Amino acid sequence: MKNHLRFSLPLLLATVIFTSCDKKEHYHLLLENTRIVDVESGTISDRMLVGVTGDSIRTVLPMSERNSVEADTVINANGNYLMPGLWDMHVHFRGGDTLIEENKEFLKMFLDHGVTTVRDAGGDMTPSLLQWRNEIMNKTLAGPDIFTSGPKLDGEKPAWPGSLQVTSTASLNSALDSLEKVGADYVKIYDGSLSDTMYYEIIKGAEKRGLKVTGHMPMDADLNKAISAGLDGIEHLYYLLASTSSAGDSIRALQQGYRSLPLLLDTYDAQKTSKVFQQLIKGEFYVTPTLHITDVLTDLKYEDHRDDNFLSQIGDGIIKTYTRREMAAKGRDETAQAYTEKRRTIFKEMVQPLHEAGAIILAGSDCGAFNSYVYPGISLQEELIALTEAGLSPADALITSVIHGPKFFGLEKSYGKISKNKMAHMILLAEDPLKNIAAIRGIQLVIKGDQIYTP
Ligand SMILES: [Zn+2]
Repeated sequence: MKNHLRFSLPLLLATVIFTSCDKKEHYHLLLENTRIVDVESGTISDRMLVGVTGDSIRTVLPMSERNSVEADTVINANGNYLMPGLWDMHVHFRGGDTLIEENKEFLKMFLDHGVTTVRDAGGDMTPSLLQWRNEIMNKTLAGPDIFTSGPKLDGEKPAWPGSLQVTSTASLNSALDSLEKVGADYVKIYDGSLSDTMYYEIIKGAEKRGLKVTGHMPMDADLNKAISAGLDGIEHLYYLLASTSSAGDSIRALQQGYRSLPLLLDTYDAQKTSKVFQQLIKGEFYVTPTLHITDVLTDLKYEDHRDDNFLSQIGDGIIKTYTRREMAAKGRDETAQAYTEKRRTIFKEMVQPLHEAGAIILAGSDCGAFNSYVYPGISLQEELIALTEAGLSPADALITSVIHGPKFFGLEKSYGKISKNKMAHMILLAEDPLKNIAAIRGIQLVIKGDQIYTP
């Protein structure tokens, strides 16, 4: 008996070693010789190997382990930089039934520019959008994963077609019922004609149902009160101006809505922003600055976009919708233009204090019909660059997209890093985006699970 044991142990060990040398781990896709960008730690791992099967990253190994793995498809990344796919947290699919097909073309543009997930912020083609979302999930359509608010909630005279009118508790309840019924992922508020009272009621109603709520705010409402009621975030930076103005409360009391903008900008108190934001933002609060579209619309008075490279990829019907904002910009007099430029400067100044105060900044482009010359995909790359111009480090700018995006939906465990068991939504860049954020424009490859796209 003793003898038998003595012999069998070394035999067993030998078998194990033999098996591990012989049987290689098999994956659908192997990306070899890549540099992995970790945006959270701001570090690069050199000479790495990433194995993907289905939609998940199954292994991440140094190249020295190359002999232990094999795959159906092997791609040599040639030392290019691999990072998680981008999230655009503010996009629109809209413009009426005649523009549905032109909106569908956006899906390809997002993928081509590394955007593997979008958060739709309300439009008028929810049924089509939900159908695309399913087809993309079933892999019968190429496109980014889609989260949507469904229709926006607005007041009696909504600013955008397709919005739901909320004028009473009854209409609020039926609006929230219908959002839940279509499977909306969050609630988007719009301020076309929403009363302050119903604004707070929407927030409380969404909070009660466990729905995240963000959006515009009636300019005369009180952000502090909205946050206390359960507001999860704001889209654009207008709604912080009253808090950062030295006369914000008295200006709000005038009930002038957006007409109070010049006064709010003139009384912007740069000294107190940090303190104000720290008092305002206590828990988890999301802010989508949309800096790039602010740049585009500010410069629209003088800029000629007819030779834009990407204009050829936009449908004629959508290009026609660009006229509205373009005419408005061209028609601005010198004073109005000066205020538009001042607004742009102040919005940029707000980003760093917001970041320091612990706001969870989201990268959102606001691309879509009517938002002139803000191109799907490209505009998200430009938003990341604009965030660094506003003071964020390249790593922090990337975090607003690839980590904060999933975090908004409680999905941070499945995304945001190239590591085992995370979703295999990845982009390959020719240069290091942590050194120069503009490297984000140089996408070589987009990997979405077992689907690989070359822009
Ligand atoms: Zn928008």
